[in-house]
Amino acid sequence: MSAEFQSLEILVDNHAAEGLVAEHGLSMLIKVGGRTLLFDAGQNDALERNLATRGTELTHIDAFVLSHGHYDHTGAIDFVLQENPEVCVYAHPKIFSRRFSIYPGKDPKEISMPSEERLVVANLLDSQLKWIRKPTQISSGVWMTGPIPRFQPLEDVGGPFFTDPEGTEPDPIEDDMALWIETPKGLLVVCGCCHSGLINTINHIQSASSDQRIWGIIGGFHLKNASPGRLEATTAALKEFKPDFMVPCHCTGEAAITYFKENLNTEIHTGYAGYQLQNP
Ligand SMILES: [Zn+2]
Ligand SMILES: [Zn+2]
Repeated sequence: MSAEFQSLEILVDNHAAEGLVAEHGLSMLIKVGGRTLLFDAGQNDALERNLATRGTELTHIDAFVLSHGHYDHTGAIDFVLQENPEVCVYAHPKIFSRRFSIYPGKDPKEISMPSEERLVVANLLDSQLKWIRKPTQISSGVWMTGPIPRFQPLEDVGGPFFTDPEGTEPDPIEDDMALWIETPKGLLVVCGCCHSGLINTINHIQSASSDQRIWGIIGGFHLKNASPGRLEATTAALKEFKPDFMVPCHCTGEAAITYFKENLNTEIHTGYAGYQLQNP
């Protein structure tokens, strides 16, 4: 059953409208069915600063969703929970994994959730921490995917990610999840970093939802390192999914956005902090 989608605003992104702060990270505020959800928390203080600039208080959120446990989505958890000490947090238990990105010739970089944030989440009451392990409705018309099966052979996690600093254990980023909202126009798909792949993510959502129509897709699609074959396959799949619009942002990558604009007949707006999507 669809709920009334009211608005989605990007609060933190790698790009920002004039007057707002940009950082490598993502956070979005979603209003649907009279409830307010926060999706991810950015990397540093951009969330707090952009809210202050906009004069928006964050003291009234009904649900706090974490798409996965990377540092650029979990950095301001402490701030969010200080403002909303009783809010329920929705995530997959693997958000606590230690993780590293290791590029050839460079030192391993730890990209886990910061330890202060980890402590804050680990100390929540059991009743406040909602582990999501399968497609789950978290609010009227709002669903989280749970872990996303990886069937598409060209899609990978999008980078040299490992669970150890030596780089021996590849990190499947099993906690990666998307969210979808049932609207009268079809589904609005909201991605964090889309480490499971955009095709896998939307296939999984369509298999779990009674509505197959995709109204829009917004978020980071992590296609910076995508092979030409993967970009082609993603574009071909998007032609089948037929979204009315797409708002790629965060880690999608300029080349992928340009490629989509050139090869898809879909409305495409590059997202940024301050971008607002209203119910038409
Ligand atoms: Zn990210
Ligand atoms: Zn990530």
